[in-house]
Amino acid sequence: MVKTSNSDLYDIIIIGSGPAGCSAGIYARRAKLRTLLIERFAPGGKLLNYERVENYPGFPEPIAAFELAKRFNDHVDAFGVERLSAEVQQLDVSGPVKRVITSEATLETKTIIIASGAAPKTLGVSGEREFEGRGVSYCAVCDAPFFRDQDVAVVGGGDTAVEEAMYLTRFANRVYLIHRRDKLRAAQDLQDRLLNNDKVDVIWNTVVQEIHGGEAGVEGLKLYNKKDDREFNLSVQGIFVFVGFSPNTHFVPAAIGTDEKGFVITNENMETSVMGVYAAGDVRSKNLRQIVTATSDGAIAAVSAHRYIDENSRLWS
Ligand code: NAP
Repeated sequence: MVKTSNSDLYDIIIIGSGPAGCSAGIYARRAKLRTLLIERFAPGGKLLNYERVENYPGFPEPIAAFELAKRFNDHVDAFGVERLSAEVQQLDVSGPVKRVITSEATLETKTIIIASGAAPKTLGVSGEREFEGRGVSYCAVCDAPFFRDQDVAVVGGGDTAVEEAMYLTRFANRVYLIHRRDKLRAAQDLQDRLLNNDKVDVIWNTVVQEIHGGEAGVEGLKLYNKKDDREFNLSVQGIFVFVGFSPNTHFVPAAIGTDEKGFVITNENMETSVMGVYAAGDVRSKNLRQIVTATSDGAIAAVSAHRYIDENSRLWS
């Protein structure tokens, strides 16, 4: 429920505490701006769903993803960024004083940085919703231990699917990676490691048509091989879906331009179509979604917001 207005005016409100939001917070506080970071769940964003990170500069030994998320957030706290745990419901960006309407309060700010990330996409097949939490999962790190010595399927051919499939081999008996084409999208070294793993079978040119099961959960999948025009069943107790992400933009008003998939469009300064509103990280329309590009976006967004505040001080006097 929306409470009454907080009269304090923030310089920057950052939505999201993943790598982009944290980086923005650090840069904003270095510029001595009054900064609030809003997070709806645990601090860390999507990083909390991964096991380890091996491509963030400075960590030649892979670092646990939750540890990197913690370090980002400790860094934010060390710089004195204010925090609020709340769900952002709506933005009013029509004037120089912008309003962020959350489940806890309505807040006022000169600028907003949208760093709300993206959520896993679903397959949209029969049985997916019914068996979510009972064999259907979108997070291997969260759920892999439940499938010790069982057979599981992973759907997708990108970095996430391949990394998570390899993680699952530590627990599962067999891991079937089901991909709709005959070529993976994942980075080549990830592909090499996957294809050399004895516990993994890749099922090419195939899509999931149905997930079926019983009282205890998932029992199998109905699959369709597009190349051979053939339907067949696969017996598994779990299915992990990694078919990309949709942006977390339910609160973003139409005035802020998005691309055809709903990702927020910015220029190279992270400016959106509305002055004083910026986007950073996975929520942004861009080609390369990595921790390193998210932290870069966050820094650029905070510097751009600082410049806008400096150049437009008359708006709030
Ligand atoms: P992604 O790169 O968009 O890949 C999604 C995969 O799912 C693709 O292989 C796609 O097939 C498949 N797919 C999409 N819709 C499908 C459907 N309805 N049914 C079956 N398959 C479907 O997503 P991601 O792997 O989650 O990666 C997202 C971003 O994060 C990427 O930029 C990635 O590089 C980055 N990332 C990086 C790392 C890392 O560097 N360590 C780790 C994880 C993620 P097609 O190939 O046929 O399109």
